[in-house]
Amino acid sequence: MTRFPFPLPAAAATVLLLGLPLLPVPDFWITQLNYIGLFSLVVLGLVLLTGVGGLTSFGQAAFAGVGAYATGYLTTVLGLSPWLGLIAGLAVTAALALAIGALTLRMSGHYLPLATICWCLALYYLIGNLEVLGKYDGLLGLPAVTLGDVSFQSERRIYWLIWGAALLAALGVTRLLDSRPGRIMRALNANRGGGSTMPEAMGASTLRYKLVMFVIAALLACVSGWLYAHMQRSVNPSPFGIKFGIEYLFMAVVGGIGTVGGAFAGAALVKLAEDQLKVWLPLVFGGSGNYEIIVFGIVLVLVLRFAPDGLWPLVSRLLARVLPARDARAVDETAPPLASRSHPPRGAALLDVRAIRKQFGGLVAVNDISFQIRAGDIVGLIGPNGAGKSTTFNLVSGVLPLTRGEVELLGQRVDGRGSRDIARAGLSRTFQHVKLVPDMTVLENVALGCYLRTKSGAVAAMLGLDRAEERQARAEAMRQLRRIGLADQAFELAGNLALGPQRLVEIARALASDPSLLLLDEPAAGLRHKEKEALAEVLKQLKAEGLSLLLVEHDMDFVMKLTDRIVVMEFGRWLMEGTPPEVQASPAVRAAYLGADDLTDEGRI
Ligand code: ADP
Ligand code: MG
Repeated sequence: MTRFPFPLPAAAATVLLLGLPLLPVPDFWITQLNYIGLFSLVVLGLVLLTGVGGLTSFGQAAFAGVGAYATGYLTTVLGLSPWLGLIAGLAVTAALALAIGALTLRMSGHYLPLATICWCLALYYLIGNLEVLGKYDGLLGLPAVTLGDVSFQSERRIYWLIWGAALLAALGVTRLLDSRPGRIMRALNANRGGGSTMPEAMGASTLRYKLVMFVIAALLACVSGWLYAHMQRSVNPSPFGIKFGIEYLFMAVVGGIGTVGGAFAGAALVKLAEDQLKVWLPLVFGGSGNYEIIVFGIVLVLVLRFAPDGLWPLVSRLLARVLPARDARAVDETAPPLASRSHPPRGAALLDVRAIRKQFGGLVAVNDISFQIRAGDIVGLIGPNGAGKSTTFNLVSGVLPLTRGEVELLGQRVDGRGSRDIARAGLSRTFQHVKLVPDMTVLENVALGCYLRTKSGAVAAMLGLDRAEERQARAEAMRQLRRIGLADQAFELAGNLALGPQRLVEIARALASDPSLLLLDEPAAGLRHKEKEALAEVLKQLKAEGLSLLLVEHDMDFVMKLTDRIVVMEFGRWLMEGTPPEVQASPAVRAAYLGADDLTDEGRI
């Protein structure tokens, strides 16, 4: 993703939008655009939360309700300024979102959406039954927002507040998506093959980023609710119920979930269509009823079937054809390098694995395995399929908890710690099943590996204060890509690469974290002969540079050529350890591999 793919049209659209109330356009246009701006604010939150993060929420209308009622109560009952109402609303929303998020974001699958429905319903009925908030009649007579002598009383005036907020939010979300925290957020989406394993292995707390997205989305909805309340000059519970919660999600899906432009496209399309349908459908079907709901249902099914990414990607592809897009390729390689850690001297104790064990129910996948790695070593871990190599790897890197045993990395005990802490201690890894973010460029994927060497958070990113550090991270990513020979594919989408280069990108990403020990899980699996040779060259070069490697590999020849020592596993047990010639000469190893081959032969028959 690039920060602003179409800077000129975006600037032109902004000027036009903000200038509109000065032109002699009908009031009706302004009213419509006010609603579209208000909806877009909420939907922008959903773009981040649902489109990018993969966390579905039906409850955003409730957060808008908190914003509306906070200011309603403060201004009408206590007689305070709308701006205090905004601050109070934001504070209450942030606290609520943190509390609800902490409770529900650990839930997986469908529990989160269900929880958001519950919470939206609960808040609706709570508001509707509170005497102080006027029950279902709500609160009347909210004052207009004023700033100095300017009053935003008329629709044409509050338009500027609404669209100012919406455009600023769009700017903030756009910047956020293209930043250190944004890369982690984009890696989380389970619907697009993401998850928390890889970001955690890069050192990021995924729960924290889910919370950040949840809070930002809630705050955007809150601002929308605040603006709505002061536009209407009254509040009642109906716009904050579950019906609107669903409609916001509908807008996000139709517009193009996961894109900033989609939030605006979706809000506009649904609002305008709804108005038209409300006029036409009763004429067709007769009588009066909410027929538009039926049409929306059908449209939703059609969109999900034929344009699952929504309408915006179609629009933006069209724009890309006629408009000059910004060149996103600039990498400033003169940027000062990121700080690097001090690595242990060659020969120093690096990793000490002592009798680690993993049981999955009755199956002992890793049975009291021990081995050591010294700085500068390349150690291979081999064994037939199902021997427990990947599990051993996951135990050492903290992806799986140990049943028992000890792991010491650079003199620190790391068993029992999560993969995020272990990454911080200096270990980085790749995955047997490649875990790249397919819709990010190769460069961005590698920059994700710089996570622990950089600091900018979501607020800094939204304010654009992370630029210097971003330049450093991109330059570092480019250096690592050059190191593995993929610099000329830096701007391809990672998902478009073949498996071989994808595995190399994973290695570059791991290298970008400046590890003291690099763990590679079956880097040669599924590669063609030429790709294997290229990979072997890269690994030899890394070895020459003094990097320490633990290499899991099924392919014996590949391991023999590269490693100093080899640990052999079979059925979870330690079989032997030795130099490549020793292992090659071992009858036990040969029997293990032949046994495995026999099995595959049988399987074929
Ligand atoms: P390798 O990487 O050597 O091929 P693995 O470590 O992937 O082997 O698997 C070792 C054994 O543990 C296999 O029998 C596998 O089926 C089992 N296993 C691996 N992961 C799990 C899990 N999450 N739950 C249950 N069994 C598992
Ligand atoms: Mg494996």
